[in-house]
Amino acid sequence: SDNHLFDAIRAAIPAAGKPLAFLADGRVETYGDALALSARLAGLLVARGVKPGDRVAVQVEKSWPALALYLAAVRAGAVYLPLNTAYTLNEVEYFLSDAEPTVFVCRPQIEAEARALATRLGVPCVETLGADGAGSLTDAAAGFPADFEDVPRGPEDLAGILYTSGTTGRAKGAMLSHANLLSNAQTLKDCWRFTADDVLIHALPIFHTHGLFVATNIVLLAGASMIFRSKFDPKEALELMGQGEAGHRPTSLMGVPTFYTRLLDQPGLTREATAGIRLFISGSAPLLAETHRAFFERTGQAILERYGMTETGMNTSNPYDGARIAGTVGYPLPDVSLRVTDPETGRVLPTGEIGMIEVKGPNVFKGYWRMPEKTAGEFRDGFFITGDLGKVDEAGYVHIVGRGKDLVITGGFNVYPKEVEGEIDAIPGVLESAVIGLAHPDFGEGVTAVVVPAAGASLTEDDIHRALETRLARFKQPKRVFFVSELPRNTMGKVQKNVLRETYKDIYR
Ligand code: ATP
Ligand code: MG
Repeated sequence: SDNHLFDAIRAAIPAAGKPLAFLADGRVETYGDALALSARLAGLLVARGVKPGDRVAVQVEKSWPALALYLAAVRAGAVYLPLNTAYTLNEVEYFLSDAEPTVFVCRPQIEAEARALATRLGVPCVETLGADGAGSLTDAAAGFPADFEDVPRGPEDLAGILYTSGTTGRAKGAMLSHANLLSNAQTLKDCWRFTADDVLIHALPIFHTHGLFVATNIVLLAGASMIFRSKFDPKEALELMGQGEAGHRPTSLMGVPTFYTRLLDQPGLTREATAGIRLFISGSAPLLAETHRAFFERTGQAILERYGMTETGMNTSNPYDGARIAGTVGYPLPDVSLRVTDPETGRVLPTGEIGMIEVKGPNVFKGYWRMPEKTAGEFRDGFFITGDLGKVDEAGYVHIVGRGKDLVITGGFNVYPKEVEGEIDAIPGVLESAVIGLAHPDFGEGVTAVVVPAAGASLTEDDIHRALETRLARFKQPKRVFFVSELPRNTMGKVQKNVLRETYKDIYR
């Protein structure tokens, strides 16, 4: 056959008996098992009416069959569409009516509601899959053969639709082609030197680009193995790092920044405990420079931070060899062009100036599902406008200063929340902070800080104001400061500033 993505995955299989996934219950699933189960599931999908280009929507807990289902959808020529398990039925209704899948695979607990919804929306087939891998999906798949003739798909055909995290508004469906996924995974595998000797701790969700495409596709293309867990347990991760023989002992970890702050909370995090790990990678949200430094002090390992998004996969990465600089996301990947432009005019800005980050490359998506106008508006001369503000320094490292939508414009001046957050976080007794702009009758927007005090610290609004007086220009200083015990975050560790803006929206009015 000629299935662009799956042919490459198949060609990279080192041996049928090679372990692909070490599961929490001690079972080991091999590459041969992955081929067989994805063949059965692909056979089932086709029998359920899935034709090339049809969507297969999936909202299930992370499990081995759920991973095989991704491969099955690719092999069946379908478009895989995973959904965050946190979405309510109400939210799922939007995604199903938007994507019009042929099959919806749901958790057994919501089967009755899912069936009613499917009937109402005209989704032809519903199957269930539980966290333990049981359900109508795996039951029915058992009756299909362990081999399957992959449906031909070219580089430009869609392999997936992933909805963005919805941090800045309603989630958008990003259409990703076989070539998008394959080129990015190959580039990253090479940049990060993944080989068949690697064992990755895979504790990220598989409904998001990080855990699904970055982590899984790299492991597959390297013929590597993974320790597959439904959630991240820092204590277990540390124990695993010290145990087992080559081929089972982890060599690498991919995480969101909270994985690293949680590891730092473990007294067992030492140089010795992490000696077997050759690479710690962070992304999906900004890694505080302080976390990077603290991790280095404890382990002697420099976390490699990279930057990407649902629409593009990964765009930049700190180097494997060479300095991994805290607070930066490294260089553009070898096949990615990156430029910084004036957000209003689109003029390309010189080195060092802050503006809109735009990217171009084989990783950049085919557009937002059924939103041709929105898609057209987010491209400029073939470059995708990421929505993130940043700069490229003299050494070529990219710095992200925040999202365009989070930029605060107060009295006509631009305030980058990240700069203010950095100063607040440096105040003794502050754990972390989020700076937002809120409607203000005189200034347009008022700079506002939401601060999480460190355990046991007692801070007042005045303390923060006083500490910033000599540190920041007047217009950047927060007009009000609020204290909370934690910042609202989604599953990927992203601070939900829209939630904060909603909470405090009327304070200046
Ligand atoms: P939505 O587009 O729906 O508002 P989202 O942008 O959070 O949600 P994702 O595609 O999951 O959805 O996240 C991509 C964003 O995550 C990037 O645009 C960027 O703002 C942020 N991001 C990813 N990696 C990093 C990083 N290393 N440093 C800073 N920000 C990062
Ligand atoms: Mg986004």
